[in-house]
Amino acid sequence: MKTKILAVGPHPDDIEFGCAPVLIQEVRNGNQVRILVLTQGEASTSGAPEERIEEARAAAKAMGTEIEFLEMGGDCHLRQDIQSAVAIAREIRRFEPEIVLAPHPDENQHPDHVVASKLVRDATRLARYGGLTELRDLPRHAIGHLYFYSITQTFLPTPDIVIDVSSIESQWEQAIACHQSQMKTKAYLRLVQTRARALGATIGVSSAVGLWANDPIRLSRLSDLTLSSRNY
Ligand SMILES: [Zn+2]
Repeated sequence: MKTKILAVGPHPDDIEFGCAPVLIQEVRNGNQVRILVLTQGEASTSGAPEERIEEARAAAKAMGTEIEFLEMGGDCHLRQDIQSAVAIAREIRRFEPEIVLAPHPDENQHPDHVVASKLVRDATRLARYGGLTELRDLPRHAIGHLYFYSITQTFLPTPDIVIDVSSIESQWEQAIACHQSQMKTKAYLRLVQTRARALGATIGVSSAVGLWANDPIRLSRLSDLTLSSRNY
């Protein structure tokens, strides 16, 4: 059976920079991946909203994922309020994902990133509460896993899981290249590739993406750990 994965990004390019290779890998593995974008990048200095939406759609196509946009006030206006959390919870109930990915909750360069992280965490709770009036029209849904990805932070604590994405490097680059309007200002590609290679070196592969768990990672038995995570 297909595993459904929902990845939430505050802006049209955050998923591509933060966790695209993990998603591409899952699509290749036959799983269903949906991207949910919370703004249209309206505040951006380069790239009008229509252009940024088109870029995100092209990247989703390149990754083999579905993509949807929510309207909740626009770029730089995300707020941790109940209406926004309910709107995301509604999408969780509609899609019924087993795994949800959200930005890391540590503050970084954009105020929307940390707000989006908290909103998604709240939404995963609201999606499972059967008595919530605003969501009564949809069956409640409890997700299985909530993980956080880093958008552009480089110096976060050691990730809880590290995924080898060495075979996805060129597809990742293609997805990022779809966001041409954002490539004019900063060396984002070099930033995320350098980070992935440094993390990959720690586990003995050429490229890796780290994720941080919201909850303890559950195993049936310790010996289910079959891949070594040590390279030194
Ligand atoms: Zn962003």
